Amino acid sequence: MTSVPYWLSNVGTRYSVGRAQAREASVQHGKCLGATPVRLTSVVGNARPKFASALPAMTIRRPENRPKVDYVHSSPAPPAESPRMVVIETRDLTKIYGSDEAQVHALRGVNLQVRKGEFLAVMGPSGSGKSTLLHILGGVECPTTGHVFLEGQDLAQMDDDRRTIIRRTRLGFIFQSFNLLPAFTAEENVSLPLELGGVPTAEARARAEEMLKTVGIWHRRTHIPSTLSGGEQQRVAIARALVVQPALVLADEPTGNLDSASGQQIVSLLRNLVDEKQQTIVMVTHDHDVAAYADRIVRLRDGLIESDGATAVGHDQHRETIRLADAESRTSPQRPSARSCLFPFRRGP
Ligand code: ADP
Ligand code: MG
Repeated sequence: MTSVPYWLSNVGTRYSVGRAQAREASVQHGKCLGATPVRLTSVVGNARPKFASALPAMTIRRPENRPKVDYVHSSPAPPAESPRMVVIETRDLTKIYGSDEAQVHALRGVNLQVRKGEFLAVMGPSGSGKSTLLHILGGVECPTTGHVFLEGQDLAQMDDDRRTIIRRTRLGFIFQSFNLLPAFTAEENVSLPLELGGVPTAEARARAEEMLKTVGIWHRRTHIPSTLSGGEQQRVAIARALVVQPALVLADEPTGNLDSASGQQIVSLLRNLVDEKQQTIVMVTHDHDVAAYADRIVRLRDGLIESDGATAVGHDQHRETIRLADAESRTSPQRPSARSCLFPFRRGP
């Protein structure tokens, strides 16, 4: 019986074990410890750690008076991955505007969770509460009752100053009408949120450059918004939203003012940000073709979630099918759009 200090990461999910350079800590049974280094002196079973070659075989026993939990499996590690972190969560969210007879129940108990790297589309008829939900997720408005947890912190319980800081540092906003500052260049529009937050100008400019390149608009950096097309302005607005490295991007009809080709480019760009940078996005849209780029669609009706489900495009193979079909339709303009065949929905207004 050898008792060797080891640490486990993601107990109960990954079972990977490495040599400890760890602080002493007690293991909590069945609880995911993330990457917290834990010095183990006793666990169950014949451990065959992932990095076992340099380590002695060991027999590990469970601590006294604890329920039996296999911390380390001797058979191949299970494929399970730890669930992705919840970025934003609402609990029993309600919003009532007005008072007495003039009351409008805009939200009537919305429960929603969005995980890291998820692209969620919110749809629903006009007046169903989409914008209200987005404003509350963004800390722009407070709910009448209920909670909004952004990275575990309840926005509804914060004072205005704290919420303003969170809005500026953890959230990015994209609007239908771009909302760029008209007298500022593209580059200045993107670096401004950082400079207002106290980031030194040189660093702010460098980060703005990186973001403008990411969204493919660096060549227009010296242009003011009125000399850019709608699609170009929205790219600048996306760069501005992303430059603070937000936990969550909230987009209200981001393609609403664009022709369908530019709209498709913009939503493809959002899709790439999710796929390549694990950006989390909640997007309100009327357009089924646009919503089809998301992983999941929540439909609101009369302030309640009517349905919540994965899109076909959330699966890679379907996404690839669409990419190929779209490429084909671009080379055969006389044929109906492949996307409209794959997603034969009504187009939104
Ligand atoms: P959607 O974005 O789905 O069209 P909204 O969230 O804008 O819906 O609105 C939901 C309901 O709340 C509507 O009936 C709307 O008229 C009402 N509403 C929204 N904002 C206000 C407000 N500031 N004051 C009063 N009623 C409002
Ligand atoms: Mg709206």
